[in-house]
Amino acid sequence: MLNIVLFGPPGAGKGTQSQKLIDKYNLIHLSTGDLLRSEIAAGTALGLEAKKLMDNGILVPDEVVIGMIENKVKEHRHAAGFIFDGFPRTVPQAQGLDKLLQDNGTEISCMIALKVDDEELTKRLLLRGQTSGRPDDQNEELIRKRVEEYNTKTRPVADYYAGQGKFCAVDGIGEIEEIFQALCKQIDSLKEKQEEKK
Ligand code: ADP
Repeated sequence: MLNIVLFGPPGAGKGTQSQKLIDKYNLIHLSTGDLLRSEIAAGTALGLEAKKLMDNGILVPDEVVIGMIENKVKEHRHAAGFIFDGFPRTVPQAQGLDKLLQDNGTEISCMIALKVDDEELTKRLLLRGQTSGRPDDQNEELIRKRVEEYNTKTRPVADYYAGQGKFCAVDGIGEIEEIFQALCKQIDSLKEKQEEKK
């Protein structure tokens, strides 16, 4: 299986690139942000609880997102692989994901980080807020809160994968297509290594 964690701060372009990658490599896209927003739209108890946190730019509890991901991984156990987008966002989530993949006879192939500076991120998120209707994209203070959550809780996840020799990064500023090609280059070399091992 090809299991990629697409990593980067809010507004780095993970969603956009995930969409292109799943088409090219025939993978399943698992975005915890999207999964949580559909729980909210469906008005479930989980969605109601999550909304309070999300509207304040705070991460939802680890068990909640790990549980959602576990259901999806099991549902698609015969897939060619997964792109994890916006997950894992904390080290305990990364540990939970390792365990759950191991239980399903697979593992993370690689984390690929999209590198974008803070100034560009705020600009992109406010712009997205004008059209997406996402409340957490419409106010600078909330965006700052999310970036702070990212810096304190999520950044260490990169070290977690680096410690396993599974980290690489690409420049997330430039044309969408250019960034996509850089990601494909990383993934193709990963696939070659997987083939050599067989
Ligand atoms: P972005 O990356 O643009 O901030 P997401 O759609 O990934 O947007 O996430 C939106 C919100 O959903 C986050 O601010 C957080 O409250 C919640 N969320 C999403 N994924 C997770 C996760 N893995 N762990 C905890 N909270 C999450």
